[in-house]
Amino acid sequence: VETIVVKVGTSTLTYENGRLNLRRIEILVRVLSDLQNAGKHVILVSSGAIGVGWQVMGLDHRPNTVPEKQAAAAIGQPQLMSIYENFFRKYNQKNAQILLTHMVIDDPQMHENAINTLSALLDYKVIPIVNENDTVVTDEIRVGDNDTLSAYIAQMVKADLLILLTDIDGFYNSNPSCNPDAKFISEVMKITKEIESMAGDSASDLGTGGMRTKLIAAKIAHSVGTKTIIMNGESPENIYRVLEGDIIGTYFD
Ligand code: ADP
Repeated sequence: VETIVVKVGTSTLTYENGRLNLRRIEILVRVLSDLQNAGKHVILVSSGAIGVGWQVMGLDHRPNTVPEKQAAAAIGQPQLMSIYENFFRKYNQKNAQILLTHMVIDDPQMHENAINTLSALLDYKVIPIVNENDTVVTDEIRVGDNDTLSAYIAQMVKADLLILLTDIDGFYNSNPSCNPDAKFISEVMKITKEIESMAGDSASDLGTGGMRTKLIAAKIAHSVGTKTIIMNGESPENIYRVLEGDIIGTYFD
């Protein structure tokens, strides 16, 4: 069975005012449900919990302090899950929630447990929704960004494909938000030092790792034979085109 891990960033899930882009989320859910129906195994790695949480808390900005952020994550995570579950239920899909920290990657026993759990969920045709456990995480045990986290997940399930949905069409030879002459790169055969030097940070307040963490993710995925695609999450239906072999986004062998 073909296994696909899809990671969606906050910039794709929300409008600029920080509120959820339900229209886009619904389309993404329909596409993932359809792929599951077509017999593929699908895992979603989703950010967005803190964004949902701070609005519930009545703040007018993202929280700055650690306890506030962790409270926002605790409030936002079940709300986000509930939104996903409502959409997925429309298409007769079942979900599970997996919250991890780096501890689960480092500790051999926890790692093996997580692998077995994911595999059981996929066998039961459940679509797992994964996030970092932001409510309990400290700097020491933080993965830190969902690009890297999604690559660890892809590694655990030996995914065929890791799709990183973001707010830009793919990887450019320099950051297009700073350099208007940046050129699009549609395929990266090897992540060399030169390629790494082209990757910049996130330009938005919402994003975390920019292209740097996406390259780290592509490397981790590559180490177990998983291909990675960075593509625009604006139109989740483009995932069909990718699976049909169209050249959109940036492909990492
Ligand atoms: P997400 O929340 O989807 O992970 P990020 O903001 O973290 O989004 O990452 C995407 C951003 O990375 C782009 O919008 C762009 O500003 C920035 N970026 C930095 N370097 C590059 C590059 N070489 N090519 C494309 N985008 C880049």
